[in-house]
Amino acid sequence: MKTMATFKGGIHPPGKKDLTVSGSIETAALPNKAIIPLVQHIGAPAECLVKPGDIIEEEQLIGQAQGFISANIHSPIPGKVIEITQVYLGHGPLADAVVIELEGSFKRLGNASEPKNWKEIPNDEILNKIKSSGIVGLGGATFPSHVKFSLPPGKVCENFIINAVECESYLNSDNFMMLEHPDEILQGIEIISTLIKPKKVIIGIEANKLKAAKLLKKRIAELNLDIQIALLKVKYPQGAEKNLIKAIIGKEVPSGKLPLEIGVINTNVSTCFAVYEAVALDKPLVERIVTMSGEALRNPKVLKVRIGTPISELIEECGGFKEKPFKVVSGGPMMGTSFFDLNTPVIKSTSGILFLTEKEINQDKMDSCVSCGKCITACPMGLNPTTIYKALDFELLPEALNTGLMDCVECGSCSYVCPSNIPLVSLFKVGRNEARKK
Ligand code: SF4
Ligand code: SF4
Repeated sequence: MKTMATFKGGIHPPGKKDLTVSGSIETAALPNKAIIPLVQHIGAPAECLVKPGDIIEEEQLIGQAQGFISANIHSPIPGKVIEITQVYLGHGPLADAVVIELEGSFKRLGNASEPKNWKEIPNDEILNKIKSSGIVGLGGATFPSHVKFSLPPGKVCENFIINAVECESYLNSDNFMMLEHPDEILQGIEIISTLIKPKKVIIGIEANKLKAAKLLKKRIAELNLDIQIALLKVKYPQGAEKNLIKAIIGKEVPSGKLPLEIGVINTNVSTCFAVYEAVALDKPLVERIVTMSGEALRNPKVLKVRIGTPISELIEECGGFKEKPFKVVSGGPMMGTSFFDLNTPVIKSTSGILFLTEKEINQDKMDSCVSCGKCITACPMGLNPTTIYKALDFELLPEALNTGLMDCVECGSCSYVCPSNIPLVSLFKVGRNEARKK
């Protein structure tokens, strides 16, 4: 398989995927107490449908989506609601959460269900199943899938791009899903295609996942599906949707617009699996694959985890720590967020948890800008990070906006290459938040 050209800019941080690459997905133990936040998606929090003392079934709806952009929340375990509380999520915000103590019997666990022939299900029912199952983008964006797959009138999907890039170092969740569930993923792609009717379907995958790419290609041929594989050069941040689109079809999404503006819908490969389960098995989103990695962890693993499981229980699954982590990160090392409360629960967006040692983190002191231009070369969005940085440093937000602050995808490539260790992306995140508030 030949690799394709790629987007401009980007960087090549060490992959670190070898920490987990030799294993297979292991199922984590069920949590004795699941902490289930009512907002695990972009949009309005779900409305809580339960109260302390209620007895809950596995997969019962406990949070009802509110408004157009929102998603349902289901219980990952059967049990008793012991508390409605507030928890900090791995990516920072405080959220209302339902705490369920495990008790009673399971509806699905241990009972294999026969997949339905989804081809006999009408499109409106398929969309409704995706919506009622609380499916959101599992690549990190957590945008409610039923909204993404409802084409507005007059819009046509020319290219349906499936994001199987997983370009962040350490993360292996999507890779393992493709190796272990290729047929379910391909069926998920077919299900979504019946809704959005794309002219072309392309799976974008980086060349460091050649085994997964070959397996998908083989199954596509055997199943006689009209799906292409685009094998891409390894480069960060290829998983950012605008970069992926540029790499695959050579078109740019205009500033401030969505991919559909140029006829593209893209979704993460694990989301396709979740869509398959929702439609063919009537299974809501109550579990996900999480990469547990980093040099501080004794046995890094890729785990299938029930939503709501506290991270502390997953650390035990991985044999505890070899050494005390210097930093714990939810997500990848470049775009993830650090947090310290190990009782933080896994939510729909938790693609990985990294336990990094002091050695794995750059702690060199910040210096003055030497005008080397390395940040400009690295920026995949064609921005001049040093100009934006100077504007924000002087608290000139309008200047920063004029120089493209809102086009920044917060990938951190500029900070990574900066020889003066200027925390460019940290300042951009603060500036973008401030601009959104205003
Ligand atoms: S300016 Fe934004 S998009 Fe450009 S490299 Fe820096 S973080 Fe990435
Ligand atoms: S990489 Fe750092 S030192 Fe070089 S121009 Fe950019 S901000 Fe300045």
